[in-house]
Amino acid sequence: MNPGRETIVIVGTGFSGLGMAIRLKKAGIDDFVLLEKAGEVGGTWRENHYPGAACDVPSPVYSFSFEPNPKWSRVFSPQAEILAYLKHCADKYQIRPHIRFHSEVSAASYEVKSGLWTVQIQGQSPLVCRFLILASGGLSRPSYPNIPGLKNFQGALFHTAAWRHDVPLHGQRVAVIGTGASAIQVVPEMVRVAGEVKVFQRTPAWILPKPDGLMPQRSRPGNWLLRKLLYWQFEMKALALLRPKLMRYGQKMALAFLKDEVPDPKLREKLTPDYIMGCKRILLSNDFYKAMSQPQTQLITSGIEEVTARGIRTRDGAEHELDAVICATGFQVAEASAPFPIQGRRGLVLSEVWKDGAQAYLGTTVSGFPNMFIIVGPNSGLGHNSIVFIIESQVQYILGALRTARKKGWKSLEVKAGIQKAFNERIQKRFQNTVWSREHCVSWYQTPSGKNTTIWPGFSFTFRLRTLFFDRAAYETLETAAGQEAGQAHLNPLSTR
Ligand code: NAP
Repeated sequence: MNPGRETIVIVGTGFSGLGMAIRLKKAGIDDFVLLEKAGEVGGTWRENHYPGAACDVPSPVYSFSFEPNPKWSRVFSPQAEILAYLKHCADKYQIRPHIRFHSEVSAASYEVKSGLWTVQIQGQSPLVCRFLILASGGLSRPSYPNIPGLKNFQGALFHTAAWRHDVPLHGQRVAVIGTGASAIQVVPEMVRVAGEVKVFQRTPAWILPKPDGLMPQRSRPGNWLLRKLLYWQFEMKALALLRPKLMRYGQKMALAFLKDEVPDPKLREKLTPDYIMGCKRILLSNDFYKAMSQPQTQLITSGIEEVTARGIRTRDGAEHELDAVICATGFQVAEASAPFPIQGRRGLVLSEVWKDGAQAYLGTTVSGFPNMFIIVGPNSGLGHNSIVFIIESQVQYILGALRTARKKGWKSLEVKAGIQKAFNERIQKRFQNTVWSREHCVSWYQTPSGKNTTIWPGFSFTFRLRTLFFDRAAYETLETAAGQEAGQAHLNPLSTR
């Protein structure tokens, strides 16, 4: 292998990076390298190891279609099992020899003349490649709240995605800021160990019971059938997301659940959302409401004024003395920004191009950035089903593009600007009259101006159908200067060895 020169560079080794790498290997392409900033695979499932971390999508669908896992212990698996699954996939498909651990990408730039990307890696020599695949994850950079005084706190303060297992919380006074998907998993665990738990809520979440349980031992066909059943059951939820009127049935179920779980009407009122269900992620939990009803738990909704050396002061003037503050405040939404500085054709900078909202074609390719692919890019997120389904769809599409490029000897491929524009206009139009439209609520799915750049506003199977085949007519392509043969030589993975 030519040092510093690969055909394909993949950034990240979570579900996206590993899924891409495995499919490449299966297709007989092995001149690729994965760059991983950490020392292990797993992406978000490596980073999020807070107590209670689990998936809120059933494991038979939250896993690769080609690698069913007979070992899932529960329908909704805990984090450790998902991480173990990803490590198993890396081992089984012999992906580890392709991974460069402790290799954090700091920038990437494209050169028109050669049609090659140069990828800068912190503390290492750059890599040159023809194709750059960003698999660095939608939710990988923790977002700390912009609250005055956060740095002044003298106790332990950390984020759910950077859990400090060295901080003893037993019997302590613990605050959890936020009531999103991470918070509702961590709060019950805190209530089990801490002496006092104060939950600072800005917006209540819509919560439904989690149909969890031990995973029945099934035969292979049984597992396949279960996967299909769960997929379609979750897929049907999209109907209500797209037709808000139907959402009132979901809301009724959630309110009945809240009533059953929380006997105190005042607490119930504080936990009742005032916006349409589905606008933010619909959460599943069997223990959050119970935890909120415990005597050692307090729900605080008066708004945080500042963090002080000893705790949190709320807008009503109350001082809450604390030993630890846990920020369950979500992530900097990567779908909406470049993960690192990326310079495309003729000096175009991705973060500049995206300054009014990220956009791509099929969430995967961006005009002005040839030979670059994004997995879980703009408008490819789901509110109702497994993101692994979307990842596998994108992987299939990218594989189609790479195979075609190789066959045709292309030096570069770039989505046509007009195609990308028309695609995004259609996407934005589709948000009208859905639960995600601005009239219903504000969420991290949207830019400050209200444009939703995160969610795929439709069924996931329509995304699958759109990405089944690489649609070369949507792309401008350039052949290598020396023609098809030379292109094939360069793109043939074995030719650089
Ligand atoms: P999130 O959904 O963004 O929730 C963040 C929470 O923090 C919200 O309740 C938010 O309130 C609150 N918050 C943010 N800034 C605040 C501030 N300055 N003051 C007070 N409250 C503040 O983040 P998350 O819970 O980490 O979940 C993010 C995503 O990760 C999910 O949507 C999901 O896609 C994924 N996730 C998945 C699972 C799973 O089981 N598969 C588990 C965890 C996370 P507002 O609502 O008012 O903004």
